[in-house]
Amino acid sequence: MEAREAVAVEFQKAYGSAPEGVWAAPGRVNLIGEHTDYNSGLVLPIALPQRTYAAVRRRDDLGLRMVSSGMGPVKQMELSTIAPGRPTDWTRYPAGVLWALGANYQVGGLDVAFVSEVPIGSGLSSSAAIEGAIGAAASDLFGFDLLADDQGRATLAGLCQKAENDIAGAPTGGMDQAASLRAEAGHALYLDCRDGSVTHVPFTLEDHGLTLLVIDTRAEHKNSDGQYGKRRADCEKACDKLGISSLREIEPTALDASLARLTGFGAERLRKRVRHIVTEIARVRLAATALNNDDFAELGRLFVDSHASMRDDYEISCAELDCAVTSSLESGALGARMTGGGFGGSAMALVYTEALAATEKAISTSFTAHGFAVPQFIHAVAAGPATRVE
Ligand code: ADP
Ligand code: MG
Repeated sequence: MEAREAVAVEFQKAYGSAPEGVWAAPGRVNLIGEHTDYNSGLVLPIALPQRTYAAVRRRDDLGLRMVSSGMGPVKQMELSTIAPGRPTDWTRYPAGVLWALGANYQVGGLDVAFVSEVPIGSGLSSSAAIEGAIGAAASDLFGFDLLADDQGRATLAGLCQKAENDIAGAPTGGMDQAASLRAEAGHALYLDCRDGSVTHVPFTLEDHGLTLLVIDTRAEHKNSDGQYGKRRADCEKACDKLGISSLREIEPTALDASLARLTGFGAERLRKRVRHIVTEIARVRLAATALNNDDFAELGRLFVDSHASMRDDYEISCAELDCAVTSSLESGALGARMTGGGFGGSAMALVYTEALAATEKAISTSFTAHGFAVPQFIHAVAAGPATRVE
């Protein structure tokens, strides 16, 4: 059964009646621009066809019941109990969205069932997908009208980010929510995180005999805990030392001069962090130009440079991600890089479609030889944003 139908069945099973409607929000994969969002930089994600579906019905009181396929029994709470640090299980992501909306809008009680096609915890942003799905549903059902235009969608994306930061406790930037709520089908989302402005860049690899192969490594790293926050803290420390408010302020031509001003204890680490962010922001610009020019060889080179920068300077790769990148390139991919926050999750490769099967086989063989878990493959196309589906 398709997720879209399954979610209504799950709702019926959990609550004994039909939902008022079904909403869906996509996962995303970022083409380039990693860890740049919280540095007021540039990112270039696409929304995926894989979506998280929410079947929803309003309640007469201020209660909230939620169930998600594969995540155990129905969870129940009062809206008024949602606060930083509460709840503590998976429900903090969707509950957080209602909390964030509640600061500005009149939010009522809901019964909700979720079914997700986005792999959870694979770096493809199942978190933004579940946030976007419930945010879209609440907006429509309570009449906030945030899906009608990009301005409303940007507002909702900001509130979903606030939910993830303040209630789920994940100090992430705003890329994932923007991709899920503001992307356009057939386009990558060129998002400037300094002012929130977006441009839609054509992304039609299929017309050029190419496929974007996403490789979910299934790797979850025990010591990744807190690393995201540590990278963020490094960036803030470097800004303090340089007397700037974000690393976006460093022009590529001024990079060497800025690096030279970082001295003292821990400076070598900070120089590496700064170099990744400044060069990565420059690569996003070049990647958007390459897409506009159908210059996929250039796009591939940028992927390769980006991966080296994340592996060596930002130090967020891992053996599985490096293996996926190396085997892709050895199989003739135009480029490959890890994508998402790092320390596991997914990599991606720009592959000639006729070489796709052989590339997947080579990656799987290499993973087996290294004793890694069997990777999962997704052929990524640029899909549309969160919407009501029923
Ligand atoms: P990613 O966003 O890359 O998939 P995160 O660690 O950011 O990984 O978010 C994953 C978490 O989000 C899960 O551990 C769970 O708490 C929550 N989550 C995401 N999707 C769902 C879902 N469909 N049902 C329940 N919880 C979900
Ligand atoms: Mg996430």
